Amino acid sequence: MSLRHDVLMLLRGPVISAIRFRFPIGPLPGNEEAVVSTSYHRVADAIDSGAVRLKEATSFPPGIAGEYTSNTLRLSPVRDPASRALAVHECTHAFFDIARKRISDQNDEAAAYAAGMLYLVLCGLGGSPVSGPYDAARPVAEGLLQAYRAGTAGAPMVDLAAWQALRTYIRAHPSYRHLRGRWPDDTRGYPHDG
Ligand SMILES: [Zn+2]
Repeated sequence: MSLRHDVLMLLRGPVISAIRFRFPIGPLPGNEEAVVSTSYHRVADAIDSGAVRLKEATSFPPGIAGEYTSNTLRLSPVRDPASRALAVHECTHAFFDIARKRISDQNDEAAAYAAGMLYLVLCGLGGSPVSGPYDAARPVAEGLLQAYRAGTAGAPMVDLAAWQALRTYIRAHPSYRHLRGRWPDDTRGYPHDG
């Protein structure tokens, strides 16, 4: 099957349909954004229409495993849960971009890692060995799973301590060195790439 087919099946599939969470984007009550299953359906529709291009990439620079830039998703083949989690990460960036969300770079990355890890947790693979930022996202994803199991309606808010720890981890990570010169919640000019 083609990458396009596999990604569209992923975005419209049963595991994605379970994803729903909210996260804070600023200090004031009500300053929050949400990622839900329809966020990914919107990305699937954009791939279908050509508004978002999808390219298969067979090699990435060290430390990079997928990317979203300039309305183009570059992904490795998505044939195992780890690569699907990565696709969920990149498609989360694509959603924020096409929906023109005003969220900061740190929140964008944190939400993308949380969504990718949540995908693995929902697959029953939360204990899989994963790279650092996904590991840092595990407490966020596991907290959401607990909320789902408790029957929480709508999109539950992430655990705020776990969310802050994830943001701090991302800011310190070598791949996100470029974020360090900015204020944590600066929303100016972030292209939702990466
Ligand atoms: Zn990213």
